[in-house]
Amino acid sequence: MPRTVLVTGGNRGIGLAIAQAFAKQGDRVAITHRGRWAGAADGDSGYHEGVFGVRCDITDSAAVDAAFTAVEAELGPVEVLVANAGITADTLLLRMSEDDFTSVIDTNLNGAYRCAKRAAGKMLRAKWGRMIFISSVVGLFGGPGQVNYAASKAGLVGVARSITRELGSRNITANVVAPGYIDTDMTAALPDDRKAEYRKLIPAGRFADPDEVAGVVTWLAGDTAGYISGAVIPVDGGLGMGH
Ligand code: NDP
Repeated sequence: MPRTVLVTGGNRGIGLAIAQAFAKQGDRVAITHRGRWAGAADGDSGYHEGVFGVRCDITDSAAVDAAFTAVEAELGPVEVLVANAGITADTLLLRMSEDDFTSVIDTNLNGAYRCAKRAAGKMLRAKWGRMIFISSVVGLFGGPGQVNYAASKAGLVGVARSITRELGSRNITANVVAPGYIDTDMTAALPDDRKAEYRKLIPAGRFADPDEVAGVVTWLAGDTAGYISGAVIPVDGGLGMGH
């Protein structure tokens, strides 16, 4: 059955791969962007390759509300939320400013909360919903220079598990997908020697393609995954085993 799906930060990288995977299987798909979306002729909203883009900065509650309202008007209530938008601001703890810390938390963790809260009412009314939070292997593994990012990504586990306990009886699931190193703009910024070090640590010996995350997300949103909730599903080539 086609569903209405909203992917935050779906204009590029992992989010775009997730949006395209849902569109390919026939769902009604919307993404958020912050001004860079080929379909948004007026800079705000519009279609590109069958995916509806709405402008939204997830650090702004009013913008989140407006984006959901626009998606509801265009495609109907959001049945599948993929909270994907995220940033890094890596630096060692002793050099990490409060702004480095709080800006990452405000986007990655508070942003996911804003979207989940806005989505939950309609999911409750429909007695069906799927929330999927894109965390990171770093959330539970830790990473030097990533106190802010790891805290934000670990926080998503508590969010998903608490939502599971609150809404699990209403046919709403909340899960975390924890990617390892995926080839996107985010990892392109890493120095080559760091990338080589990371590759040595990954049992699979390689970084992954965004499609390898998208396949897990579409599966989690599907009817066959209805009894999975509060799970943390790694897509990391074995990097974080046991955490
Ligand atoms: P990219 O940097 O390629 O894309 C990030 C996306 O998030 C962009 O669409 C960006 O929008 C959006 N975004 C950032 N800040 C905001 C904001 N305040 N409001 C709305 N949208 C925002 O990242 P990836 O595709 O690599 O990562 C996607 C998710 O996966 C992130 O949460 C990341 O932490 C996580 N992840 C990535 C891994 C990797 O190896 N790449 C590994 C593990 C997790 P815009 O285009 O406007 O900047």
